[in-house]
Amino acid sequence: MNFNNTFSRLPDVFFTKLNPAPLDNPKLVVISSSAAALIGFEPSPQNLDALTKICGGHELFSGSAPLAMVYSGHQFGGYSPQLGDGRGLLLGEVVNDQGEKWDLHLKGSGPTPYSRSGDGRAVLRSCIREFLASEALHHLGIPTTRALCVVSSDTPVYRETTEAGSTLLRLAKSHIRFGHFEYFYYTRNHEALKTLADYTIENNFSDLEDMQEQAGTDEGYRLFYAEVVRRTAKLIAKWQAAGFAHGVMNTDNMSIIGDTFDYGPYGFIDDFNWHYICNHSDHQGRYAFSQQPEIGHWNLGRLGQALVPLFDNAELIQTALDEYPKIYTDTYMELMLNKLGISNKQEGDDQLVTDLLQLLHDSRCDYTIFFRTLCDLPSDNAKHALTERVNHASFEPWLTAYNLRLATDNTDHQARQTQMKQVNPKFILRNYLAQQAIEKAEKGDYQEMESLMAVLTAPFEEHPNLEHYASEPPEWGKKLEVSCSS
Ligand code: AMP
Ligand code: MG
Repeated sequence: MNFNNTFSRLPDVFFTKLNPAPLDNPKLVVISSSAAALIGFEPSPQNLDALTKICGGHELFSGSAPLAMVYSGHQFGGYSPQLGDGRGLLLGEVVNDQGEKWDLHLKGSGPTPYSRSGDGRAVLRSCIREFLASEALHHLGIPTTRALCVVSSDTPVYRETTEAGSTLLRLAKSHIRFGHFEYFYYTRNHEALKTLADYTIENNFSDLEDMQEQAGTDEGYRLFYAEVVRRTAKLIAKWQAAGFAHGVMNTDNMSIIGDTFDYGPYGFIDDFNWHYICNHSDHQGRYAFSQQPEIGHWNLGRLGQALVPLFDNAELIQTALDEYPKIYTDTYMELMLNKLGISNKQEGDDQLVTDLLQLLHDSRCDYTIFFRTLCDLPSDNAKHALTERVNHASFEPWLTAYNLRLATDNTDHQARQTQMKQVNPKFILRNYLAQQAIEKAEKGDYQEMESLMAVLTAPFEEHPNLEHYASEPPEWGKKLEVSCSS
């Protein structure tokens, strides 16, 4: 693989160079073939063996230049002045045959100067959760970091119990977070702040010509910030439409390029509930499902604040930020109307969506099953199944209004069903499915993860032999709690 480690050539204040600390007896747990293809990694037995040694901290890719990045961030609303890669390293940047650059980041690679009181390690459970979720989101069409593989080991790591020290090799177009900018703003290193912004614009926004041409000026930075606002708003609209809760939307977990980033106690909604809190440690519900759009806006405000020293006229920042609510709402409504099979937006459509969500919330209806079943209307079976699920007096009138609305759209049923099935997944990464795969993997059985991946990588298709992965959670699966301790 061809490495070009641009980040490692930035000034020393951006990172600390160091190598991964080895794990005992590393073994490969799972690899994503589609992620491997992104960097031209050929999964031959020999290459897999080398990859396992690299992820276990025993060898390095030739050409890599590992480093821990420094950043800070707002965590649960309060500013933490010094964070950074405390348990991961940027191994380097691979340029594939198409000329695309991919960061390789090894999570769980041992202590760094930014580990604070942590051990620098990750456990198998959390690596599998990130692996499954990032690959699942990608195949749902939601921007996200990717996961190449998970490696486990005999090194014990102490959490509530003793677990297996493991690593995840993450791929992303950038590992720069909102918190990188905050770090240089709050340490008053405006020169580094400018270097970081210019670096990001050059490396990750190179396709936006206006931004490139105006680089280094107020207009260039305005275009940059406005683009981050736009990408973040669209990303969160996609989470909301898919029923995905991130769980820890601290600014150090927000990617500057608008990817879903840093998977912790995330969750996909089963029974629809606006106030779903997936993170067991989030007692106030700061990061509840319904809060995500507003938190995205708030986080962008923190990024905007950090960019102030780059501008002569800082009012431009506020103007760009003020676009957020409209971009978010327009995108969200468009996605929801797609889910309903409505192609041309009309007056009253917003109400149709709002009313439906209220019904789903009131009846705690399974979000994914509802929309997938809706694709089969006007069949009587589908109508019956929906009415049974949304056990609410107002559902019948809603359905009548919906059918009337569809009738004005002029698309035939079959075309609409096909379109709807391309946006309403049959399979999502339900918490209990991840849990089942983890429990088996912890016993050395990786087959469950492989079959789960088969549906998650083609979530809009039918998988007749794997239908059970589309089921609602059993009782035990509804009560699972996920905390930050990973
Ligand atoms: P997270 O909650 O995973 O987004 O992490 C927040 C901060 O804590 C980051 O700076 C991480 O690098 C650091 N961190 C999390 N877990 C550990 C750990 N086990 N050892 C060292 N640092 C950690
Ligand atoms: Mg983080």
